[in-house]
Amino acid sequence: VKGYLNKIAVNARLNAFNEVFEQEALTCAQEVDSRIKQGIAGKLAGMVIAIKDNICYKGHKVSASSKILDNFTSVYSSTIVERLLAEDAVIIGRCNCDEFAMGASNENSHFGPVKNFADESRVPGGSSGGSAVAVQAGMCHAAIGTDTGGSVRQPASFCGLVGLKPTYGRVSRHGIIAYASSFDQVGPITRSIADAALLLEVMAGPDEYDSTLANKAVPSYLPDNKPVSVKKIAYLQEAISSPGVDSEVKSNLVQYIDKLRNAGHIVKPIAFELLDFLVPAYYILAMAEASSNLSRYDGVHIGYRSPAAVDLLSTYKSSRSEGFGKEVKRRIMLGTFVLSAGYYDAYFAKAQKVRRMIREKTEAILKEYDFILVPTAPEPAFPIGRMEKDPVVTYLADIFTVQASLSGVPAISLPTGNNSKGLPLGLQLLAPHFEEKELLNFSEYFL
Ligand code: GLN
Repeated sequence: VKGYLNKIAVNARLNAFNEVFEQEALTCAQEVDSRIKQGIAGKLAGMVIAIKDNICYKGHKVSASSKILDNFTSVYSSTIVERLLAEDAVIIGRCNCDEFAMGASNENSHFGPVKNFADESRVPGGSSGGSAVAVQAGMCHAAIGTDTGGSVRQPASFCGLVGLKPTYGRVSRHGIIAYASSFDQVGPITRSIADAALLLEVMAGPDEYDSTLANKAVPSYLPDNKPVSVKKIAYLQEAISSPGVDSEVKSNLVQYIDKLRNAGHIVKPIAFELLDFLVPAYYILAMAEASSNLSRYDGVHIGYRSPAAVDLLSTYKSSRSEGFGKEVKRRIMLGTFVLSAGYYDAYFAKAQKVRRMIREKTEAILKEYDFILVPTAPEPAFPIGRMEKDPVVTYLADIFTVQASLSGVPAISLPTGNNSKGLPLGLQLLAPHFEEKELLNFSEYFL
């Protein structure tokens, strides 16, 4: 813990943490030490973890990197925090992120942008950008993020790490600040696949506080390192043919396809006709759900209340106007629009139908193939400042991560080297629902 605290202090300019639980982490580490000596320590003894600042931890502040949660303290812990602590993890602090997890660059934060440790003029990805940089710069052993449309996988790929989004319904969302509830999942950001597997194993499984969880037993997810049988892998042809994909991202994909073929696996291109509908369907649905989830921040029940509030209406208006940042307001307005009476069928209902088609098509591919292979992002980490200039370009870059989110299937981003500028690249594997065990096993082999 002392070593990590030192790294956190030395790298404060990266802005990865919203708060460091310094004293508490040191005390907790001493307690874990004594349990190790007594031989009664849990599975995560020795693991120092950072959590994204949208994960509730009793008695600790949680802000979702928003002014509207200024000074808000959690009155209970999320299920995943309880499970991590029960296995003797040490939680070292809460990490910066895009406000309410809305973003892909960590630039939409009330606490300012996070810098990528590989190139400080560039973004770390998002929304779990602080979590990724905390691991990338050695400020903790592993971090926990949330992934609604790529927020664990994309920052992992921008920072040269492993990022896993489990199947929707595998990990409890109880105590996670909601963005888009039918997409949100918690996932680990780690250096190794074994660490991701261990953290998933500890966090996964039924929880009486989250009714969307599957009632499925949790296996041991640790890779077994047995010989891998011949696999059938599909890759999206567009990832190689589209002009929108960076040329070094393409050659990285081609290199791994060749490697798999040389090892005897069957790797085939597929056309995904619904590709152009992935980003629009995702953003319509995610914004709609967000506009509803964020209606609870009213300046009355929790968080920030504007000093300009004089009656009920002005309390709502001024607290929300002053408390939410620009991107969050944009999404509340767009989400409210697509849900409004005159437009509901044209946008929200239509997007739900498109989601159903995307899910069915994805499931059909994953019946025929063991995995789908795609880049995690069409480009490596981009310069800080782009989100402000052109949000739509940033939305469109979610093209490869939102398929798994819309379909609910598990997906992992794996670090597959650096480009010619030394920026990390990542490839992503998608597997059928609840096949995390196979996915992690194959990932270990793949790298
Ligand atoms: N970039 C996507 C968005 O802005 C995904 C964010 C996430 O997964 N939380 O919605």
